[in-house]
Amino acid sequence: MREQLMKIRQDASSALAKADSVAAIEDIRIQFLGKKGDLTAVLRGMGGLSAEERPLIGQLANEVRAFIEEEIEKANEILKAKEGLARLATEGLDVTMPGKPNVIGHKHPLTMVLDEMKSIFIGMGYEIAEGPEVELDYYNFEALNMPKHHPARDTQDTFYIDETVILRTQTSSVQIRTMENQQPPIKIICPGRIYRSDEIDATHSPIFHQLEGLVVDKGVTMGDLIGTLKLFVKNIFGENTNIRLRPHHFPYTEPSAEVDVTCWVCGGAGCRVCKQEGWIEILGCGMVHPKVLENCGIDSEIYSGFAFGIGVDRTAMGRFGIDDIRLLFENDIRFLNQF
Ligand SMILES: [Zn+2]
Repeated sequence: MREQLMKIRQDASSALAKADSVAAIEDIRIQFLGKKGDLTAVLRGMGGLSAEERPLIGQLANEVRAFIEEEIEKANEILKAKEGLARLATEGLDVTMPGKPNVIGHKHPLTMVLDEMKSIFIGMGYEIAEGPEVELDYYNFEALNMPKHHPARDTQDTFYIDETVILRTQTSSVQIRTMENQQPPIKIICPGRIYRSDEIDATHSPIFHQLEGLVVDKGVTMGDLIGTLKLFVKNIFGENTNIRLRPHHFPYTEPSAEVDVTCWVCGGAGCRVCKQEGWIEILGCGMVHPKVLENCGIDSEIYSGFAFGIGVDRTAMGRFGIDDIRLLFENDIRFLNQF
């Protein structure tokens, strides 16, 4: 019986050495260790053994079983390693092949123009101020000299969250928030997204962008405002660009003006883009209304200031020759890749 067991041990070992698949190894396990396997068959004959021999043979049988189980495990591991090597050989990495280039995006045309505008004003000593897009009616209208039912509100109809909370129609709300918290001298720009309940067409969008500027100090005059705007347009549209002021009315500035710049397409000669005028309107401005200063706790007898609001979208459209504002918001990659 001892010899039988040793032979099983030997046979299983050499069979496993030749096994070349998971299935083959499983067959060997069944052949030697299964219920009808060789080892079980030997153990069945143990009844005929003497009482002294039985435990000894029993122990040997257990050892043989443990040995075969261990050999099966090893064979499986070797097989796995071999399969791994084979896969490496067939699916090998060719390090000389050219790589796939990473597609890196770039700034949106609006962001490009806005960054340029910001850097021009930062160069003139302005600081950037920011505020909420979801704004209180007070900061967007009332503090800017537009009480409830003021007709000027009609031209700035917006989206109402409730009676007192709205989506801001201009970044002037940030000017109010700044003046409330800071005494002059104040010299800020407020860039940001604004909202109006306009129908979407080639020149209108319910969302657009504005950059407003505010300067409040002793002795600030309209001359300072005009000088600032001239410097700005020459920087952004070119040295030969000039400005033209047309009297206008805003509730928050007095006097107020709308500002045109020399047409960036024809240089002032007249063309389709400027409707033969030679000028294109890009911003509104004026001297801060004394009442607005007083609303913010600034003494209008001592201080004066000017403010202006520039359309970022319109500036970007002029800068890049874009004829439809919707292109700026559709985020069509074929369009954006042109910049
Ligand atoms: Zn023109």
